[in-house]
Amino acid sequence: MAIMHRIAIVGGGTAGWMTACLMAKAWPGAEISVIESPDIGIIGVGEGSTPSLKRFFRQLNIPDSEWMSACNATYKTNIEFIDWSPASGRHSYSHPFITQLDSFSERALYSNCFSRRMGIDVETRPEKFLFNAYLAAAARAPVTPANFPFRLEYGYHFDAFLLGQFLRKKATDAKVQHLQLTIAQVVQQPNGDLKELVSQDGQRISADLFVDCTGFGSLLMQKTLAVPFESFASNLFNDSALVIPTAALAELPVQTKATALSNGWAWQIPLQNRTGNGYVFSSAFINKDQAETELRRHLGLLNSDVQSRHLTMNVGQLKQHWYKNCLALGLAQGFIEPLEATALHLVQTAVEIFIDQYSLSAATPSQQSHYNQSISERFDKVRDYIVAHYKLNSRDDSDYWRANRANTDLSDSLLQILDCWYRKNDLDQEIKRQQLSSHFGTTSWHCLLSGYGVYPALAARPNGEPKYIDPFKEQQLEAFFSACLLNFMPQNELLNIYQGT
Ligand SMILES: Cc1cc2nc3c(=O)[nH]c(=O)nc-3n(C[C@H](O)[C@H](O)[C@H](O)COP(=O)(O)OP(=O)(O)OC[C@H]3O[C@@H](n4cnc5c(N)ncnc54)[C@H](O)[C@@H]3O)c2cc1C
Repeated sequence: MAIMHRIAIVGGGTAGWMTACLMAKAWPGAEISVIESPDIGIIGVGEGSTPSLKRFFRQLNIPDSEWMSACNATYKTNIEFIDWSPASGRHSYSHPFITQLDSFSERALYSNCFSRRMGIDVETRPEKFLFNAYLAAAARAPVTPANFPFRLEYGYHFDAFLLGQFLRKKATDAKVQHLQLTIAQVVQQPNGDLKELVSQDGQRISADLFVDCTGFGSLLMQKTLAVPFESFASNLFNDSALVIPTAALAELPVQTKATALSNGWAWQIPLQNRTGNGYVFSSAFINKDQAETELRRHLGLLNSDVQSRHLTMNVGQLKQHWYKNCLALGLAQGFIEPLEATALHLVQTAVEIFIDQYSLSAATPSQQSHYNQSISERFDKVRDYIVAHYKLNSRDDSDYWRANRANTDLSDSLLQILDCWYRKNDLDQEIKRQQLSSHFGTTSWHCLLSGYGVYPALAARPNGEPKYIDPFKEQQLEAFFSACLLNFMPQNELLNIYQGT
């Protein structure tokens, strides 16, 4: 531990403060500072999470009632993908977070998807098989009653600015030092390690370990250490986003909506005090003004003067996430477009792995290389799942969608998954063989492939052929889940209790 006694985290966005909280908890003896520029703002988007954020707050012993009230947060059990695949004959499909309760139904989903791949007409809509989609349809909070015997998984929606402030307070309470300085110069040791940071007003901060959380600017890793960046632009075309908030919804949903538009997709994220909306698009296919007009039309805001905010996105990852005595986290280390809201999940996982490995002993080159490989693979796995959305949808209303579907720049791993599906082989075995479950497991892949209707035509079935046994119907899954639902209260009611109203 001695070599990392002093830790300087540069950047006070969500990544910087999450990192500070986790490191302060893991290493109470370390001197940790967060240096945040008063002049360079945070990106201020990133308002949806995966279930890993639940684990984050549990580690810090912070109850939902406390932080959710402070950050206008809502629960998230599901993402609903709307208008992505007209040819499937379905308006939308769901990708819920998988919970313990789904152990009753996952096999039925796999089995029916397999039958459907053989041309048999059975129920394959993912939202019919997975409990969190039922909660989403009913806008009920995923909080388990004391006597409910199964653990639920869920994520959240939250205000990124408020979450930053909340975590800053928690970190400074845990003795993390907060310095409001803009770093103008970074001084290196003769061996290339970072030595100290120099602020615009001449203050010098030295440390043993530096953490680059400076957002897309990547001040330490890219600008100072010249670590190369691997772009994902050849298979993830979206490079721009546009944000327009609207009023809060009366009944707060427990899901994110991702609606396909002409040249990308729009998110809808429900918060307690407002609704977050944005359009993620490719500037090669639509310009900013056209995108803004389209989003305003989608939101019914064509004649409104509500302010918009445009952002550009640098999609890809650093070739090394930990280099010399510097670790990069958050947008400074890379970014995959937010379709599955995985960015903070990757930040958290990376910090947890780093803490785990670095606690063992001082860093060796092989530890560093093992860490880099492990984080890179995680980025690749998430990227492949996102790429699959663009490859498998059936929209045909613009060059953007046609170019996405014609894209042949697919990883071997993704090609093998698709090959397995089309050849009617066992997808569960394939996901296990490739060890892909740490981010998107078998059930998630079934949601995606089935949700987009990646199936052959139905087979002709001779009269009198015995009826296929459909485990969805046999096990009466819909009735079972609907009965389970009675245990859960509407999200609005629970949030009112949290707020003490
Ligand atoms: C359109 C869009 C949608 C997104 N949606 C999601 C989502 O739903 N879920 C999700 O998990 N993630 C999402 N993300 C990603 C998410 O926004 C980020 O991962 C998250 O906000 C963390 O950002 P950050 O802390 O890395 O960077 P930032 O928020 O940009 O913070 C950078 C910090 O560095 C500081 N800084 C920079 N330069 C200096 C300097 N010279 N000196 C001192 N300080 C400096 C700044 O002051 C700031 O505090 C989305 C991103 C985009 C672009």
